[in-house]
Amino acid sequence: MLVIKRDVIEKIKEQAERDYPYETCGLLLGRTEGNKRIALEAFETPNANPDRKHDRYEIAPKDYMRAEDYAISKGLEIIGVYHSHPDHPDRPSEFDRQRAFPDLSYIILSVQKGKVSSYRSWELIGDKFEEEEVEVIE
Ligand SMILES: [Zn+2]
Repeated sequence: MLVIKRDVIEKIKEQAERDYPYETCGLLLGRTEGNKRIALEAFETPNANPDRKHDRYEIAPKDYMRAEDYAISKGLEIIGVYHSHPDHPDRPSEFDRQRAFPDLSYIILSVQKGKVSSYRSWELIGDKFEEEEVEVIE
C-alpha cells in the first residue's frame, strides 16, 4: 500500500492542474517499511515526450538520475511515479502497463476540464496493474 503526506499529494494535484491539458509527471521519494511505501516528497520532472504530451508522459533518464541523486542526499529512495490523465479516468493505459516496473507505486490523477477529479494508486503484480490502498497522513 501507499502512504502519502497530505502536502505531497496536494502539490501533485496542483502540478496536474497547472500542466493541463498536458500530462504532468514526477517521482515519489520516500521509504519502504514492510509492505508500505511511504511518500514524503514529490520530485517534479518535465514531460519529455516529444509529441504526445496530451496523452503520454516520459521521464528522461537524466531527470531520473537527478531525482535519484537528490533522494540519496536526503536518505530517501524513489518509491513511485505519478502522472496525470487529462480528461481521462485514473486507470492505467496499456502504454502505462508496458512501461511499468514492479515494487513501485503508480499514482494516476484524472484531470477533468482542468480540475483533479480523482486519483488512485496502482502497482504492478505479475504483468497486471492492481489498485492499491492509499492512506493520506499529516
Ligand atoms: Zn497514463
